[in-house]
Amino acid sequence: MRTHDAISREGSYSISSSSVDAPTPRCHCGVRSPIRTAWKCDYPGRRFYGCSGYGTSRKCSFFQWYDPEPPPRYSDVIRRLLETNEGIRSENTELKKTRQELLDELRSLQHSLYETRANLEAAISASTAMEDNMLASVATTRRRGILITVLISAIILLVFYR
Ligand SMILES: [Zn+2]
Repeated sequence: MRTHDAISREGSYSISSSSVDAPTPRCHCGVRSPIRTAWKCDYPGRRFYGCSGYGTSRKCSFFQWYDPEPPPRYSDVIRRLLETNEGIRSENTELKKTRQELLDELRSLQHSLYETRANLEAAISASTAMEDNMLASVATTRRRGILITVLISAIILLVFYR
């Protein structure tokens, strides 16, 4: 097993179940390759050996799978899970948008409710003031009426019963 690994380390091959015992390969830079995880592939989460300078300016195309290739069916299952996940994600985005729209609408309704209430209160207080004025003027008219009646009665008494 070890001999086989040692020999095939030079070539490009998928590491088999013996990968645990396999020595860490060196990349084109001659550095021991760290194990990384691939997400954008048919088997997201599958690990591989990559250059330690990955993500830096170093251009090294070294690549070797660490995990053995899963059965083809896994690719199907993973793809379907990813699609479902994508569906849920976009649904969530839609729901967030709808929620925001509802919140905006609610805020706008609250605002117009406050305005309506303020207008109504102003109208009520204006109408109350008008009613007070009318009552006051009715009272004044009634007092004047009584005064005139009393005066006329007095005049009649003075003229006819002298
Ligand atoms: Zn390298």
